[in-house]
Amino acid sequence: MNLVLYNLFPDRLNLYGDRGNVIALQKRCEWRGIHLKIVDIKSTNDMNLSSVDIIFIGGASDREQGLITKELLKIKKDFKLGVEDGISCLAICGGYQLLGNFYVTSEGTKHMGMEICDFHSSAEKDRRVGNILIETNEFGKVVGFENHSGRTYHSYKPLGNVIIGYGNNGEDGTEGLCYNNVIGTYLHGPILPKNPSLTDHIIRAAIERKYGRKELIELDDTLEYETKKHAENICLTV
Ligand code: GLN
Repeated sequence: MNLVLYNLFPDRLNLYGDRGNVIALQKRCEWRGIHLKIVDIKSTNDMNLSSVDIIFIGGASDREQGLITKELLKIKKDFKLGVEDGISCLAICGGYQLLGNFYVTSEGTKHMGMEICDFHSSAEKDRRVGNILIETNEFGKVVGFENHSGRTYHSYKPLGNVIIGYGNNGEDGTEGLCYNNVIGTYLHGPILPKNPSLTDHIIRAAIERKYGRKELIELDDTLEYETKKHAENICLTV
């Protein structure tokens, strides 16, 4: 089986180890004999959304986010069509904010979003920084790191509920967003290497859409779960 992943603007959208997510997806595919072709997207001209299976969007500072917005708006219609057709997408922090209608920085600058989902984010002066632990229905506990000034409120299904940390807004106890096969989350860290069931969910969704198959070969995740437990304990003891 062959999958294609677009890593959107990795030279700009890449904070706190976000590229590790792409490596985790690649490795877990490779260990199962699935070939995952990774395409680093530097211009929307290089994108053909009818031939992609997974889209990854990393986080970014407000500045980088602003620089990339205009380019991303060129593909928002095709992106939306792809999402409605079940493309898998993982978007982290600034990338997550870009999935919404707009993002307003703490200075009041408004960056338009791709309008993939109907929500917006706005920033306050104080940043939400630290390790974060959430509880999810599908993937158990998920651990990561957050650093954002933006707050997001929405009425979609969240990825999970916050145990330690802030998540979407630090108020309603939710973290992230799930819509079709799109996951938006504030979790850097990177999120996927320590949360293999989430990584497999993304791969499974892509395989199912392309090949109509759900089963993934089991992997030995002892090391991943030990690392995750360690990270959870750090969250819980701070
Ligand atoms: N610029 C956004 C914020 O500060 C996203 C930051 C990030 O991706 N970590 O809210």
